[in-house]
This record gives sequence, structure tokens and C-alpha cells, in this order.
Amino acid sequence: MSSFDGTQLDILLVEDNPGDRRLAEIALREAATEGDMRIDIQSVGTLADCIARLADSANRFDAVLLDLGLPDATGLDGLRAARATLPEVPIIVLTGNSDITTATEALNFGACDYLDKAEVQSRPLLRAIRYAIERKKSEIALIHLARTDPLTGLLNRRAFFEEVERARRNARRTGLDCAVIMFDVDRFKEVNDLYGHKAGDTLLIAIADSLRAQLRDTDSIARVGGDEFAVLATHLNGADGAIDAAEKISTTVRAITTFGRTNLEATVSIGIAVFPTVDTDADADMLLTHADVAMYKSKATKRGSISFYDNDMDARVKVQHELKRRMSGDIAADRFFLHYQPIVDAKTHELIGVEALARWRDADGQFIPPVDFIPLAEESGLISQLSTQLLAQACANILRWQNAGLPAVGVSLNISPIECRSPTFALRLIAVIEKSGISPELINIELTESSIIQDIEMTKRNLDFLKTYGVGIHVDDFGTGYSSLSILKDLPLDVLKIDRSFVNDLDKEGGAEPIVQAVVELARKLNLKIVAEGVETEEQAAILASIGVDHLQGYYFSRPVDAEQLTTLWTRKLSDAAGESPQLIQSPSVEQKVAV
Ligand code: C2E
Ligand code: CA
Ligand code: CA
Repeated sequence: MSSFDGTQLDILLVEDNPGDRRLAEIALREAATEGDMRIDIQSVGTLADCIARLADSANRFDAVLLDLGLPDATGLDGLRAARATLPEVPIIVLTGNSDITTATEALNFGACDYLDKAEVQSRPLLRAIRYAIERKKSEIALIHLARTDPLTGLLNRRAFFEEVERARRNARRTGLDCAVIMFDVDRFKEVNDLYGHKAGDTLLIAIADSLRAQLRDTDSIARVGGDEFAVLATHLNGADGAIDAAEKISTTVRAITTFGRTNLEATVSIGIAVFPTVDTDADADMLLTHADVAMYKSKATKRGSISFYDNDMDARVKVQHELKRRMSGDIAADRFFLHYQPIVDAKTHELIGVEALARWRDADGQFIPPVDFIPLAEESGLISQLSTQLLAQACANILRWQNAGLPAVGVSLNISPIECRSPTFALRLIAVIEKSGISPELINIELTESSIIQDIEMTKRNLDFLKTYGVGIHVDDFGTGYSSLSILKDLPLDVLKIDRSFVNDLDKEGGAEPIVQAVVELARKLNLKIVAEGVETEEQAAILASIGVDHLQGYYFSRPVDAEQLTTLWTRKLSDAAGESPQLIQSPSVEQKVAV
């Protein structure tokens, strides 16, 4: 890697034409003088020599000047090979003015800049080199950021996954084993609950720091979930080496005893998957799952123990893996889609919005309910892909409704806790909305209280961003979590959705009416609207309206229906009801009581 400090410039010049080479060398030396730097130039004339110099770890180049027409490489081939050899060194491409298109294309393939050979002069050259070094630096910083867990500085799940894939390939080649060692902190939740999230974070950072200090430099260490860590140990001789690493992890974490004012001995439950000696056919994804399964076995047997993945655990894993594989394919094949459930004004029963609910019909036509597949999507990391796709579908439907002349109403999408604490969540959402061209005001997101408080800082950042952009923020299943008022007060919320359980028994003796009333008052104070969900009877609807709930949703008005059904019902009713007082929608199967 470059260690460019502004005083010494190390350049690899790859140019086969002696005349061009000499001119470039002169310009380089002049550039160095102008920039008040010492310069060292290594010149080679073939791609093979270029690769050899780059691969030699004794060299530390600040930049490579690469001619696109070499005797052993034409066009972008040389660039590709050089990048593959040493991705972290900035490359400036040298071109004759005839291949300017190739030069621009080179930028897309990772060149930092290009220069016309006819115009290689000290000043533009110096500027190009400086710019290339800077650009490379920020590129590397970005990659680093994308690969690290912000709290601990360890690798994140995705980066770890890539490391495991690489280790698998190496293991095949070297005949040595690699092991995925997964562990989480026993009773971490208690630490969080007793001492607060800050204390929990401190513990996680302490664990990360000691692991980094104690494990081998060649081990990759990652934080793969809340309190879940993973270590990738390579070059092992069978399972024994993995045990050594696991025991080291265990003692390292146990040694972190002082913690705030209290003494706390942290223990970890460990699961190991070894490739290829034990887990012969596993891919990277399976290795992670296997280590995870073994970890759960450790937890179930005795906290603080170490378990290996073995074939007994296979059956369970296979089912899960198969479902995940199907899910991944079906996301790509558009077998996930949305149903929409109307939300109406409590007084007029006029349609004011819809909630979008995910549905999965698999290749065999089998229907799988969201309560089954959402947790799986969350666990497997497919959730954000799924939710991006569903959002795009929702946007497309909104456009369709707009084009059909239907009134614009908001669509509320459910967001998993995993998503809203991802640093890129808001950006991803906004990108999809931007691309669709719809107005962001038509999109609301529903988050449960518990998902909000899981990582309040990151969630708040995401929500503030989305709110500014125009997206509505709704709290789902309100009343079932533990969110404190003070937390809600600081968030950019628009709507509280009262959980179904409070609505259920409203029309019965001793129902939750006082609770709902209290929530309505609270909402007024915070300037929020209230939606009651799960309204199934006329009586419930009437009580809720009289208490002052703003909007209602539930089977009484309509079950969730597909986009087409919603469009047809809506269009028909609009034309039928023109000029008349609000009417109820009748659907073929279910009685729909939504006025339009
Ligand atoms: P939720 O967000 O609380 O959604 C409301 C659920 O209540 C829906 O179930 C809806 O069909 C059902 N429901 C609506 N009205 C009534 C009623 O009057 N009575 C009764 N008994 N139920 C009613 P669904 O569609 O099965 O969704 C279940 C859960 O799955 C949702 O609960 C939500 O947490 C999750 N979910 C659904 N779609 C998505 C999604 O796209 N992303 C994420 N992350 N989660 C989703
Ligand atoms: Ca919801
Ligand atoms: Ca809900």
C-alpha cells in the first residue's frame, strides 16, 4: 500500500515505447521537483513485468502509470490484471489520443485518471498523480467503512462472509482446514437491561479489543449480529486447531471481568464448523449457518461450552437452508408481492390510506404467511433485498393508481428492526422512491416500538433523514412494547397505531377503552394521529370513533386485497358513487365497508 507522505513519490511506469517512456520519465522528474518531492521511478515495458513488480511486497508504489497498448496486453486487459494484483494502488492510464473512448472506459474499470501521452507534462501529471492518490485513499476508506462494524471496528457480517469464501478456496488448494467459530455473549441481554445500552456497547468493544490483541493476525474477527461474534481461523490441521482457537476466545472473554462498578465475568457459548475435514460440501453460507447451529447447541447444553457442528444437526439445517434458497430465488422471480389493507377515516369511513402487507406464493403455488417468512428473511439477511423489492412494487402501484385517476393516498410499509438500524436504510429507501418518481409524501413506514429502541441512535438518524425527505413515520403495534415517552418525544413521528389486542375486547365488559383513551390523549399531546388496527365489528368502530381515534383499519372494513382488487373496487365505487354520499365497497368474497 502507498505510504505517500508528500515528500517521496514512488512510481511504477509501464510503457514499452522507449521514446514515450523517456518523455514520461522527464515529465515525472519535473513534476517531482515542482512538487518539492524526491522521486523513485521503476520503469518496465510489459504487463508481465508490471505484475511482477506489483506483486513484490518489497515495492510500495504510490501510483502506477500504465500504457494501454503493451506487447503482452491490449485495451483494458492490462488494467484489469494490475488492479487484480494490487487493488489498493492508484492507476493512471496513458493513452494515445486515438483511444480516448477506451480511456474513459478505463475509469469505469477502476483507473483513477487518464492522460494523453502527447500531453504528458509535469504540471498536469503532478495534478493527476495527486488526485489519483487522494481518490484512491477515499475509495479505500469507503471500502473499509463498508466492511467494518462501526461500533467495534471489527469486520461486519458481509465482509466476514467474503473472508470465509476466500478461506474455503484456499483450504481446497492447500489441503489445510479452516474453521468458522461463532459465539455470543451469555446473558448479554441482562447486561443491557441492568446497566443500559451504553454499558452493553462498552462490553462489546472490550471483547473486540481483547480478541484483536489475543488472536492470531491471520484470524479474521467479525461482529455478525447484536452480541454475536465470529472468528475465521485458517491453516488448521483438522478440528484440533479450531478447539485451540475456541478455547483462546473463551479465556480471552472470561478475562474481561471488571465492568463499571460491578464485577462481571462474561462467558461465551461457542459453535464451530470445520471445512473441509468435517463439513466437506458446505459453501460459505452453510458454514456460517452450521457454526450458528452448533452455537445454539452449546447454549442449550451449558452456557460457556464449545460445540462442533455435526451431521445430527443436519436435518434441521437442511430444511432451513432449503427454505432460504427458495426464498432467495423467489425474491428474484417476483413471487413476493403486496396485499393492501384499507385504512379509513374514523368518522366518514373514507379511504385515507392503505397498509402494504407482504405475501409469498412459492413456485408450487403454496402460500406462506409473513409471520413465517419475515423472521427467516431477517435471519438470513435477505430482508433488505425483499423490502427494497416490495417498496418498488408499492411505488409502481401508486403510479398506476395515479394514472388511473384515483385519489392519491399514502401507502404504509412494514419495516423490520434489522433494517431500520442499518446505516444505509434511509438512503436505500430514498433511492427506490426517487427512481420511481412518486412523491415521497405517499410513503409511510411502520416500525414497532421494540424495533425503534433496539438501536435508538441509528434509528433516529435514519428516521430524521426520511422525515425531512417527506416519508411518514408510523409506530406499529403501539402499546405492546416498552418505549418510554421520552424516547418517542424525540423521534420525528406522525402516527401511533394502537395494537389489535386493545381493540379486540373494546366491545366487551372490562375492555381496554381506558387504555385507548389514554393513548389518544398522549397522541394529542405529541401531535400525532392515531390509527386503531384490527377493527372487526361495527361496535368497535363506533367506540373508537367516539374516543377520538382518527383512523381505523381491520377486517370490518376490508381484509388485505391485492392491487388489482383494490383498483377495481376503488374505480368502480368512484364512478358509482359520483355525487352521492360515501358508500361501502362490496367485494365478491368479503364485505368491504370502505367509503370512497
Ligand atoms: P402487522 O404489521 O401488525 O400487520 C397487521 C396484521 O394484522 C396483518 O397480518 C393483517 O392481515 C392483520 N389484520 C388486519 N386486520 C385485522 C383484523 O381485523 N383482525 C385480525 N385478526 N387481523 C387483522 P399479516 O398480513 O399476516 O402480517 C403479519 C405481520 O407480518 C405484520 O403485522 C408485520 O409485522 C409482518 N409483515 C407483513 N408484511 C411485512 C413486510 O413487508 N415487511 C416486514 N418487515 N414485515 C411484514
Ligand atoms: Ca404494520
Ligand atoms: Ca400492527
